[in-house]
Amino acid sequence: MTVKSTLIQALTSAPMNRLMGGLRNQCIPIFMLHRMRDKALGVHGHDPDTLRAALSYVRQQHYHPISMRTLVDHLREGTPLPSKAVAFTMDDGFYDQAEIAVPIFQEFQVPVTIFIATGLPDNEWWSWDYKLEYLIMSRMKSAQKVHIGGQTWHLDSADRRRCMRSIRNHIKAQDGTGYDDFVEDIRQQLGCDLPPLPPPAYRAISWSQARALESQGVEFGPHSHKHNILQTQSLADTEREIRYSWSRIKAEIKHPLPVFCYPTGRIGVDFGPREMAIAQHIGLQAAVSADAGYVKLGADAQNNLFALKRFAFPEKLGDFRQYCSWLEFFKEKKHSEYGNGKLV
Ligand SMILES: [Zn+2]
Repeated sequence: MTVKSTLIQALTSAPMNRLMGGLRNQCIPIFMLHRMRDKALGVHGHDPDTLRAALSYVRQQHYHPISMRTLVDHLREGTPLPSKAVAFTMDDGFYDQAEIAVPIFQEFQVPVTIFIATGLPDNEWWSWDYKLEYLIMSRMKSAQKVHIGGQTWHLDSADRRRCMRSIRNHIKAQDGTGYDDFVEDIRQQLGCDLPPLPPPAYRAISWSQARALESQGVEFGPHSHKHNILQTQSLADTEREIRYSWSRIKAEIKHPLPVFCYPTGRIGVDFGPREMAIAQHIGLQAAVSADAGYVKLGADAQNNLFALKRFAFPEKLGDFRQYCSWLEFFKEKKHSEYGNGKLV
């Protein structure tokens, strides 16, 4: 065990948490998960054992898991919240989230919200970023290269995932109207097929599966329809994406969560004031970003209700303990008070 992890363990121990409880009750972490690891189909993602250990920790330490609806009701109307609250969300709507993650959440009776990119269960398409992942991770051969613009990527099989992320980030930085063209260009360069509908590893949650989970307490909210980066789209396309995904969720789910989740989710990069205004205008109550940080509580708390921050669910349990405890909030608070070159 490293010095740092020993220190985190001591600082996030039950006696310290009791001592610093006041600080912790000024904030709530929302955790953001993506796909779950499924070795059988080669799906890369969160380790189910880490999720189980994290939720067990939540229960042992008497944190109070709450639903996103409870949190948003509190932020809008001041309805009461338990102390030491935490919330969990999953983005996209793949089968592994329903079939691997949800049973673990249920085992610990922890509520979870799934934000669905509605084109997935509608079986209309699969999104450009997952097509790209499929091409690079499953179809690109070691000797092959990918050229985009003036840049070339060589595949080092040990760094296949890093190569894929680098290409994905490069495409994300381009004009958002041409993602599928980039993917098609890469497919041609690799000389392989791309199935029109997702292969088994990219299977979506079906709507009937979602309805069954809803009856067991899982909440569903909209995450766009085609999972494009909204800020790079035309106004008409962005509006259609937000509006249509919300209408699809409303048509399929009994009590949909009126909270939007922006694809990719970085404020100022993937979405901005225009997207926040549209979400508000069509009657949604809040929205979540993918930027790291807490939701603040208390009379003088300043949250942007249409850009609520979340923490990416960490790979290490020590990091999870830190986000759950008062410790990370303390660091964030100190940084915002003193971090602009005033004292440090
Ligand atoms: Zn997403």
